[in-house]
Amino acid sequence: MTVETQAVKLTETAETVLKRRYYLKGEQGEPVENWEKLCRRVANAVALPDRDLDDYEELKDHFFSLIYQLDFLPNSPCLMNAGTGIGQLSACFVLPVEDSMEGIFSAVKNGALVHKTGGGTGYSFSRLRPKNATVSSTQGVASGPLSFAAVFDVATETIKQGGKRRGANMGVLRVDHPDIMDFICAKEDQTRFTNFNFSVAITDAFMKALYDEAEYDLVDPVTCEIVERLNAREVYDKIVELAWHNGEPGVLFIDTANRANPTPQLGEFEATNPCGEQWLLPYESCNLGSINLGQFVKGGEVDYDRLARCTRLATRFLDNVIDCNVFPIPEIAEMTMKTRKIGLGVMGLHDMLIQMAIPYGSRNARELSSKVMSFIRRVSQETSEELARIKEPFPAYDPKTNDYTPRRNAALTSIQPTGTVSMIADCASGCEPYFSIVMVKHVMDGDRLLMVNKHFERVAKEEGFYSSELMAKVADTGTVVGHSEIPAVWQDVFRTAQDISYGDHIQMQGNLQCNGVDSSISKTINMSNAATKEDVRLAYMMGYELGCKGLTVYRDGSRDHQVLNTKSAS
Ligand code: ADP
Repeated sequence: MTVETQAVKLTETAETVLKRRYYLKGEQGEPVENWEKLCRRVANAVALPDRDLDDYEELKDHFFSLIYQLDFLPNSPCLMNAGTGIGQLSACFVLPVEDSMEGIFSAVKNGALVHKTGGGTGYSFSRLRPKNATVSSTQGVASGPLSFAAVFDVATETIKQGGKRRGANMGVLRVDHPDIMDFICAKEDQTRFTNFNFSVAITDAFMKALYDEAEYDLVDPVTCEIVERLNAREVYDKIVELAWHNGEPGVLFIDTANRANPTPQLGEFEATNPCGEQWLLPYESCNLGSINLGQFVKGGEVDYDRLARCTRLATRFLDNVIDCNVFPIPEIAEMTMKTRKIGLGVMGLHDMLIQMAIPYGSRNARELSSKVMSFIRRVSQETSEELARIKEPFPAYDPKTNDYTPRRNAALTSIQPTGTVSMIADCASGCEPYFSIVMVKHVMDGDRLLMVNKHFERVAKEEGFYSSELMAKVADTGTVVGHSEIPAVWQDVFRTAQDISYGDHIQMQGNLQCNGVDSSISKTINMSNAATKEDVRLAYMMGYELGCKGLTVYRDGSRDHQVLNTKSAS
């Protein structure tokens, strides 16, 4: 059987990104690949673990078409490195930080090795003794988690990932760690910890104290003694104030995540990867990939048959990536191989909704998105069960804790930001709504070039309301809302991140999380510049109550400089 492949035309932006960072380069630094060659390189490398299976030849072509047609794209390290001999293909890692000099500095070293190959790392600093605790060997006092986080920050700054990506870290501290107030305030000065996203790991006990207007315990992680009690509301207000001020710290709901830990027998979750979509155990890594949902709408309906075929192939692809991966350190190889987690996500969710004329902030959008995500999870689970029969289940599978048919992978779905791969695929990133509908590009001689969203241009022309004056007005106001030339129904469909209420953003995240996502979701809850601290306060509570495993809010214009601006940094 031959595999049919649709011809594809990449956008100019996609070609620029690919030439700059993804195509292999010759001796003079000139690109020696094109899109087709890159896709062949990746497909052939990732099919290789199946060379003894009957469908090997066909599989290479299937993988090729999947990527070439932009139906599915793996994360950047896989696109860049597969088949090149570098062989590190994963985006996400979590490394433990033990409470000893040896432990801290081996984490710095391991993080450096991960960054060198294009991965991002998450660290929990919660095991470190608090500032001013005694150090028995020297009779001195400990300098505390934050002082060590600064070492990780400098190390990251020094390692440029082969010039392709600037390193990225997540730093986590539990809300019951004695140094929590310092941690919450650490990034108030936006010039500090610039290679980190900081998140507070919020516990259920803390949330209970918050609802009860009570105090909660701060516990020394080494001695396990209660060293202080704080008023939960005061701590929460500080987090809210600073997140309102410049978007950090974020919050992670650590107990919600641990309740869904598929392998508690191996340990607890302490941290996520840099953008928050993967809760991983210490030394676990995960490779990600995203289905481009905008490609699966046919005649105003979701083409579930084609989506199922894509999901099966994508699951098999990501499972194979584990076997052709060259891991940066042996501990990571060992741990990753025990659970074989993959992160199958989506991008272009907004493109799908727009093509079906469904406004992102509507109940309809939430219901459809949940249905699609739960469909992807179910098909991915079935594929993983099938792979376990052909190959082997993940080695840590234990029928006592895992009450399902043996699978090849302990976790299957998560929704990543797709900061760069969505630019290649020309779609809205991850599960986010579009950020703008008409963008202005300044070109030479001070001229402005208007870049109109492809769906908006089509609809405006079809419906007869397209004019260059209107496009300029949309660009200048930054929204389609309020222009009488645009029929009300399309004003609703083309609302962007800023036009959608924060409540609707959170409900979308909560619905996707609870209906179709094993690990977590990277999403920004956008708020207008006029949003109040009370809005942020309510947003976090709403996220917790809806079952989100973390939440990031961003108030328009509140940050001088985006810390992990994946569109420009990765
Ligand atoms: P991409 O679109 O390039 O595949 P994403 O924006 O989806 O990547 O990010 C996925 C994950 O990749 C992040 O959560 C993080 O773990 C890692 N990552 C992203 N950007 C960087 C970076 N600049 N350096 C290191 N890791 C990164």
